[in-house]
Amino acid sequence: MSLLNGKTALIFGVANERSIAWGITRAFHEHGATLGLSYAGEMLERRVKSLAQTIDCNFVEPCDVSSDEAIQALADKTAAAFGQVDILVHSIGFANREELSGPYYRTSREGFRVAMDISVYSFTALARAFQPLLRPGGALLTLTYYGSEKVAPGYNVMGVAKAALEASVRYLAYDLGPQGVRVNAISAGPIRTLAAAGVARFKDMYRHFNKLAPLQQHVGIEDVGSMAVALCSDLSKRVTGEVVYVDSGYNIVGVPEPPECE
Ligand code: NAD
Repeated sequence: MSLLNGKTALIFGVANERSIAWGITRAFHEHGATLGLSYAGEMLERRVKSLAQTIDCNFVEPCDVSSDEAIQALADKTAAAFGQVDILVHSIGFANREELSGPYYRTSREGFRVAMDISVYSFTALARAFQPLLRPGGALLTLTYYGSEKVAPGYNVMGVAKAALEASVRYLAYDLGPQGVRVNAISAGPIRTLAAAGVARFKDMYRHFNKLAPLQQHVGIEDVGSMAVALCSDLSKRVTGEVVYVDSGYNIVGVPEPPECE
């Protein structure tokens, strides 16, 4: 099946082969999309370029999403390389490590600003800069986590950021709908990635997950990749403004069984 034949996708957030963005990239490649990758900065260049080679992707460009100039420069390069774009994937999140442990009330003003800027505003900034390039029938996608709705101890300011990101999805969906562009989010279960390693209590979230989720299975980047294909292809052409869970059903459980003592 080639659900993305003829579509051009720009994917932000590949850091290594464990990145959710890489799972999405591979799935898009399997479904025939023309791909461009954008990574955060110099330190990641070699790794991301060598991953891109494995899927014959030649458009691999840096972009620090905290800079409007960098985003605009990338939009200009994208327009020169592809003309228009059908799909943008934002798989980016960041908070300073010290904000991701201990009580939430210790969040600093600067820590709050950084988390909101990079994990939330950057999605709106990308929508703003790329809006003129988006082809009707296109789709924007971002990644969120259940800590936006319920307390996940230690997730702290990232939970608050994800709540704002999910609200952004709805506002962007409303704005871009008349242009024929859809905007959705995937709320993924815990996956062992670089970003996850920064959350002090991640190990606990991960360890008990497959005992508590109805499907009793961990989530992999390939599971997120296949849902991303569905949400960015014409299979879901009347779906916008939604947060779709790829979490083995974890979010539906109101009263989890306490894990057995080990
Ligand atoms: P990851 O570390 O592989 O990806 C995070 C990416 O954000 C990296 O590529 C990093 O370079 C990029 N980034 C950070 N600051 C940036 C900046 N200023 N400019 C450009 N890029 C920047 O980890 P991941 O788990 O694949 O994270 C991807 C997304 O998925 C994040 O939004 C994360 O919150 C979300 N998510 C992760 C999980 C999980 O358990 N891993 C669960 C649900 C949602």
